Amino acid sequence: MTSIFTKIIRGEIPCEKIHESNHAIAFLDIAPYIFGHTLVVAKREEARLENLPSEEAAALMNFMQEIAGAVSQAYDGCDYNAFLYNGPDAGQEVPHLHFHIIPRPPGVMVNFRTRLSYTDDERQKTGSQIRACLKKG
Ligand code: AMP
Repeated sequence: MTSIFTKIIRGEIPCEKIHESNHAIAFLDIAPYIFGHTLVVAKREEARLENLPSEEAAALMNFMQEIAGAVSQAYDGCDYNAFLYNGPDAGQEVPHLHFHIIPRPPGVMVNFRTRLSYTDDERQKTGSQIRACLKKG
């Protein structure tokens, strides 16, 4: 099913892109739980993890490992949550397979009922900070 994430993947609507591979794209969540909250989205138009071809699921997990490492490094190597809402009863709002990566710097409370918003400058700086932590090559 075509979703807003398909439009982002096609470049039809903007995003603060962190990185992209053949099978996945990572960009900042527009309404983060905490700054640095990043989405890792499968490029295939598929809502559920188990419906992804296994080689694409493996590639997605490799990509996620790379992105999660950069998100962590952008905040001094902090811990993070990485989770998936797999289907509407599990809380999925955009029916297009994606994982959330949520940095958890020590001593910073994250309220999972509240969303934040970025100014343009804050969003660009946060994106740059994470992109700078991607491993080269
Ligand atoms: P869920 O399907 O419940 O995992 O939620 C979808 C997530 O996508 C939410 O955290 C939204 O804030 C986020 N989101 C929705 N539209 C956009 C967008 N245009 N750019 C970035 N993130 C988005």
